[in-house]
Amino acid sequence: MTTQLSRYHGKARSIKKRVMSDRIVSDQTPGSIRLLCTDFDGTLFDHTSSPCIPMELLKHIAELQRQGCLWVVNTGREKDYLLESLTPHGNGVQPDYLATVERELHYLQRGQYEPVIAWNNHVEQVHEALFLEHRDLLNEIGEWIKSNFDAQVYADPFSPVCLIANSVNDALAIKKKVIDMIDPTGPLAWVCNDIYARFSHSAIHKGSVLAEVARRHSIAPNQIVAAGDHFNDLPMLKCQYAQHLIVPSNGMQEVIEAVSREKGFVASSPAGAGLMQGLSRLDSLGYRATQ
Ligand SMILES: [Mg+2]
Repeated sequence: MTTQLSRYHGKARSIKKRVMSDRIVSDQTPGSIRLLCTDFDGTLFDHTSSPCIPMELLKHIAELQRQGCLWVVNTGREKDYLLESLTPHGNGVQPDYLATVERELHYLQRGQYEPVIAWNNHVEQVHEALFLEHRDLLNEIGEWIKSNFDAQVYADPFSPVCLIANSVNDALAIKKKVIDMIDPTGPLAWVCNDIYARFSHSAIHKGSVLAEVARRHSIAPNQIVAAGDHFNDLPMLKCQYAQHLIVPSNGMQEVIEAVSREKGFVASSPAGAGLMQGLSRLDSLGYRATQ
């Protein structure tokens, strides 16, 4: 995997040089925020609230973008399913990037989201090879879940075994067994979010996708804010990817603990209101959005 990533980054190096030579603002500008990365469900968006995304938050993000900060929504949802919820509730504020199914990237161009082809091809090839190599084990795991739980188990273009459990408790019990069945230090990862789960390569996750956006624009971790609430956010809620971390009050206990360990901000309000608290705090500490 390291070799595969190195090859990919080798190919991309000439693009990076071009981007850097065009830059005016120094990477080392102190106190600057150049990239905001937010999870969607439970962090930006709450379907039980009205509005689902606080207007104050949307205005704040729009102002950050006006000042040059990029915004990426980093989610487990597929692109169309994300836009189904984001478009009617976004009040015209559009992320610069969509990172979907915890692996694919799309960038905003003339109002439409276009795939980041080189990256998406790379992650597709990595997963094809992974799932082929572990085909028998993956079949065995799928059969075990079907035999032991009343759950939806199916294949989709992103994972040969996907799960919709009947409850969070079922999802946790299934997760425990699946982790016993795979080598937890190996390349297979069981990525969980609430009652949903799928397999992925352990080196491709919300953190590595965030790092790819940062690499494309030569943005350093100390210029990045990342916010999330659930298990699938854990890989990006690390200082190696983003040094300004936010978890809303509805975050899973493990996520709150992880963000606390990384000296991030634990909000007292849930979802978008909590994210707004975290962004306001950075503002009051003197951090400013820049290009
Ligand atoms: Mg979430």
